[in-house]
Amino acid sequence: MKRVVVAGGGTAGWLAAALLKKVIGEAVNITLVESEAIGTVGVGEATIPPIRLVNQVLGIDEATFLRDTKATIKLAIRFENWKQQGQHYYHTFGAPGKSMAFCHFHHFWLKARQQGLKHDLWDYDLNYLAAEAGKFARINAKDPVLELPFAYHFDASLYAQYLRKLSEGMGVRRVEGKISHVSRHKLSGNVKALHLENGHAIDGDLFIDCTGFRGLLINETLGAGYDDWSHLLPCDSAIAVPSERHENTAPFTRSIAHDAGWQWRIPLQHRNGNGHVYSSRYISDNQAHDTLMANLDTKPLGDPKLIKFTTGRRRQQWYKNVVAVGLSSGFLEPLESTSIHLIQSAIVRLIKLFPHQGISDSAVAEYNAQSKVEFEQIRDFLVLHYCLNEREDSDFWRDMRHLTLPDSLVHKMALFKQNGNLVREQSDLFLESSWLQVMYGQGLVPEDYHGLTNSFSDEKTQAMLASLYKIKREPIASLPTHDAYIQSMIDSA
Ligand code: FAD
Repeated sequence: MKRVVVAGGGTAGWLAAALLKKVIGEAVNITLVESEAIGTVGVGEATIPPIRLVNQVLGIDEATFLRDTKATIKLAIRFENWKQQGQHYYHTFGAPGKSMAFCHFHHFWLKARQQGLKHDLWDYDLNYLAAEAGKFARINAKDPVLELPFAYHFDASLYAQYLRKLSEGMGVRRVEGKISHVSRHKLSGNVKALHLENGHAIDGDLFIDCTGFRGLLINETLGAGYDDWSHLLPCDSAIAVPSERHENTAPFTRSIAHDAGWQWRIPLQHRNGNGHVYSSRYISDNQAHDTLMANLDTKPLGDPKLIKFTTGRRRQQWYKNVVAVGLSSGFLEPLESTSIHLIQSAIVRLIKLFPHQGISDSAVAEYNAQSKVEFEQIRDFLVLHYCLNEREDSDFWRDMRHLTLPDSLVHKMALFKQNGNLVREQSDLFLESSWLQVMYGQGLVPEDYHGLTNSFSDEKTQAMLASLYKIKREPIASLPTHDAYIQSMIDSA
C-alpha cells in the first residue's frame, strides 16, 4: 500500500492528501488528480472546533491561516425563527455554567427557574456573551469556566488553495486533468487506475474518492450503494451567493429559518457567504432564489449557484480499495457545519486502520461500522432541530413535527423531557451542552430536574448561580472586538 491516489481536489481531496502525507509521511506516495474544468462545489465555509486539531497536526500557523483564507472566528450558531417566528437561540461551542460531577449545571438552573429565577441558560455561557458583544480573544484561562472554545469561518476556495500549497510542500504530486474512466483488476474488482482524457493513466494501490456528490469511484465505478435519509432530512437543494461584508464582522454563523428550509449567513473578512437550503417538495427553485435575495441585507457579489443533493450516506464508505471521503461519502446538509469535520474524522480513522500490509476485511468492516455510527449520531442531532419546531405558518414546518423519528433520538428526547437528563455516547461528536442548547432552544423543557440538586440548599444554589453570572461577564469588557482581534492577527502574520 505504497501508492495512494486521491481523486478530486476540493476541501476533501486536499485535506485528505495533507493529513495522510503529514502523518504517514515517507511510507506513502500521494498523487492527487483534479480538474479545474470541473471545479469544486464552492461552499463549505463554517467549521466546528475540532478543525483546530487539524491545524495543529498540520503545523499551521494561525495568523497566516487567518490571513490567507480570509477567515473569521466562529463562537456559535444563532438559530433564528426555528422554534417560532421571531424567536432565536444560540448553539454555542461553550457550555452554560460549569462542569459538575454527576449532575450537570443545567439541573441547578432548572430548579432555580422553577423558583422564579429570571436569567436564561445562555446568561451563564461565555461564548454567548462574547458572540452577542461581537468580541473575541484567545483567553488563556486557568479556570475552565472561562474557556472560550471556537472554530473558524473561511473562504472555501482559499482554504483548498492553502491546503494544496501545504500538501505540495510536503511532496504530494498534483496532476491536472479530467478522469474519463476508471479501470479495475479482473479478479478482485479493485480499482487499478484512473484514466485521464489526455491519455495518461494513474495507477495506485489505495484510492481516496474525493470527487464530490457523484462519487466517481465509490458510486459510479463500484456501486457501493447509498442510504437515502431524505425522509428525515428532506432539504435537497441549496442556492448560494456571496454578498458584501458587514461593517462589523459577527463571530458567529446565522441560521435563519424560512418557509421550507433555512438560510445561512457566514461572515468572512472580505464578504459574507449566504445560502438558502430548502426542500424542493415545498417550494420551487425560483421561490427559493427570491427568498434568498430578499433576505441578503448586503449587495450580492456574483451569480447565485444552485446545488442539488440527497441527504444520506454511502452504505460502504470503504469498499474494495476505495475509501470515499467528503461529499462522495454522504451528505447530511450543512445545518451544523459537520461535513468538513467528517472529512477530518474519516482520514483519522483511515490512518488508524491504514492497510500498510494490504487490505483486510476486518479493517474495512471496522472503518465502515464507525463511519455509520458517526453519520447516524450527527443525523439525529440535525433532525432534532427540525422535529421540535412550533411553527404553524407553513406545511414544511408542520410536516417536520410528524417525522417518524429514529428510536435513538426518541430515547434522548424522552430522557431530557423527563428530568433534564442528557445521554451522550462516547463517540458522539456533539457534547451534552450541544444537545442541551438545541433541545431547550427548540422548546423541549424538562418536567423535572435531577434529585441531586437537593443536596445543595436553595441559598447555596442561588449563590453559585449569582457567582457564575458575574464571573462569566467579567472578561467581556476587556476583550477586543472580533474585527480588532482578526486585524491584530493579520498584522502579526
Ligand atoms: P467537491 O468540492 O465537489 O470537490 C470534488 C473534486 O473532484 C473537485 O476537485 C473536482 O474537480 C474533482 N472531480 C470530480 N470529477 C472529476 C473528474 N472526472 N476528473 C477529475 N477531477 C474530478 N461543510 C462544512 O463543514 N461547513 C459548511 O458550512 C458547509 N456548507 C455547505 C453548504 C452546502 C449547500 C453544501 C452542498 C455543502 C456544504 N458543506 C459544508 C460541505 C462541504 O462543502 C464539503 O464537505 C466540502 O466542500 C468537500 O467537498 P468535496 O471536496 O467532497 O467535493
